[in-house]
Amino acid sequence: RVDLAMYQAKAAGRDTLCFYDPSMHAQASERAALEVDMRAGLALDQFELYYQPQVDHGRIIAAEALLRWHHPQRGFVSPASFIPMAEETGLILPLGQWVLEAACRQLAQWADDPQLAELSLAVNVSPRQFRQMGFVQQVLATLASTGAAARRLKLELTEGLLLHDVDDCVARMSELKSYGVGFSLDDFGTGYSSLSYLKRLPLDQLKIDQSFVRDVLTDPNDASIVRTILALGSSLGLQVVAEGVETQEQQAFLERHHCHAWQGYLLSRPVPAQEFAALVRAHGAAKR
Ligand code: C2E
Ligand code: MG
Ligand code: MG
Ligand code: MG
Repeated sequence: RVDLAMYQAKAAGRDTLCFYDPSMHAQASERAALEVDMRAGLALDQFELYYQPQVDHGRIIAAEALLRWHHPQRGFVSPASFIPMAEETGLILPLGQWVLEAACRQLAQWADDPQLAELSLAVNVSPRQFRQMGFVQQVLATLASTGAAARRLKLELTEGLLLHDVDDCVARMSELKSYGVGFSLDDFGTGYSSLSYLKRLPLDQLKIDQSFVRDVLTDPNDASIVRTILALGSSLGLQVVAEGVETQEQQAFLERHHCHAWQGYLLSRPVPAQEFAALVRAHGAAKR
């Protein structure tokens, strides 16, 4: 119990002294239970990837793989709640590997279908997963064993990665890039990146966080942040994708500012693989 409480205090990430608080114990056992359930969930095949389309100039060119957990008792558990926990406990390593493999298998399957063969697939990689020993080899081995093409795989990293060894991060990215793997910086603008780091990372894409897109029409600060990210992307030669586009008006704003790549509920929520394939076919057919 003491260990869990200490763990909880550590996980809170503060330097302050943490006095015992009865709710802390409840939280800690809740987390321990979640961890046990996640391990079981991996063994019992309770995880699934959903796919959200990304459009560029009106065409679906890519998908983002988003993890879903179908828990037998808790029901549908949101990644926003279990990913941070998995990151803290280290469970993100087997879970992340499961995601990578499932995503690459999907990519290889799409390659056999003329209507899906051109799609890229973006996979979220958490900082701990990216920094683990042997990550580069793990990605290359997964590509090889599934037969997925490296140039169709994009890894989405977050700025949290830059709290650690930036040189090591650049080296890992460069090695994977030499095989054709692409990189995107997710949730851009919400984290810790300084412009000098940004310049050093071999990125292909920036994703404007949905928190800036949400009120882009009503909040002048959000509008200027979005314009600034677009200008930055264009001057650094990076593609910029807007996340969380829900309305025609938001999309029109982006379009006016020369942002043609976006994803969001306006086109589709993340959906299971079969539904995604149907969506691409219908969308592709509508464009012809
Ligand atoms: P993210 O990578 O920034 O993914 C975008 C999130 O925004 C997804 O939430 C997506 O469902 C949601 N979204 C997309 N379009 C809209 C929209 O128009 N409006 C709104 N309100 N939301 C939209 P989701 O699937 O719940 O995932 C949350 C986060 O969990 C992800 O944020 C990512 O950080 C993490 N995550 C998900 N899957 C994985 C994974 O396989 N590995 C890792 N390491 N993290 C993952
Ligand atoms: Mg993402
Ligand atoms: Mg994001
Ligand atoms: Mg996010």
